[in-house]
Amino acid sequence: AQIERLQKIIANRGAVSRRAAEKLMLEGKVSVDGQIITELGYKCDINSLIEISGKEIIPETQKYYFLFNKPRLVLTTMKDPKGRETVSDFFKDISARVYPVGRLDYDVSGLLLMTNDGDFANFVMHPRYEFIKTYQALCRGNVTKKQVSQLMKGVLIDDDYQTKAIDAKLLNYNKEKNISIVELTIAEGRKHHVKKMLAAAEIDLAKLQRIKIEFLEIGDLQVGEYRSLTPHEIKQFY
Ligand code: URA
Repeated sequence: AQIERLQKIIANRGAVSRRAAEKLMLEGKVSVDGQIITELGYKCDINSLIEISGKEIIPETQKYYFLFNKPRLVLTTMKDPKGRETVSDFFKDISARVYPVGRLDYDVSGLLLMTNDGDFANFVMHPRYEFIKTYQALCRGNVTKKQVSQLMKGVLIDDDYQTKAIDAKLLNYNKEKNISIVELTIAEGRKHHVKKMLAAAEIDLAKLQRIKIEFLEIGDLQVGEYRSLTPHEIKQFY
């Protein structure tokens, strides 16, 4: 028998998130083999009969993996108490509960993976693996070669954290509009990482977009659209 924490089993079956499962447990709504369980440390066999409010939680068998082009002004959460649009609003036609793998800021667009496979999500999000991500930044003014090379040499963020780009280049400067496009590749992912790096190099960011994670590229996927990963792409990941 495989023994796991109850909230993890519920989340893996795809019913609700781990956090939501814990809340339901504390509310006395979750039972295992007919017995109400409120203790968050409770463990049981992964094949136990689990019910939420008397309704059996049956595992979702089909796994989904999507590459999504998140629009700006969409939250990387499943729900927003303030009623703002979230990534889940784009996946209403999918019968499973697919959720974001990692994060993109509210005002950042671009490549975001969505899945209902908890193991895949945990693997990709684990800090140990540090997947390589590429961003395109639309910046105000004429970004200099010196500023770009500073991103490569390293900048200080969060007061005391030294970080540098794996690659940084100035793709274009539009004199008429006075805007520059900078492409930046990093392997780390602190909160607002790219924004802080650009700020540290005194680059005035207007819009940020993620265009690549490892070998996956946003390509010609329109903003707000998604496509399934191919079995080959999934295998390349893990
Ligand atoms: N860096 C940021 O600043 N924001 C993101 O959403 C991703 C990377």
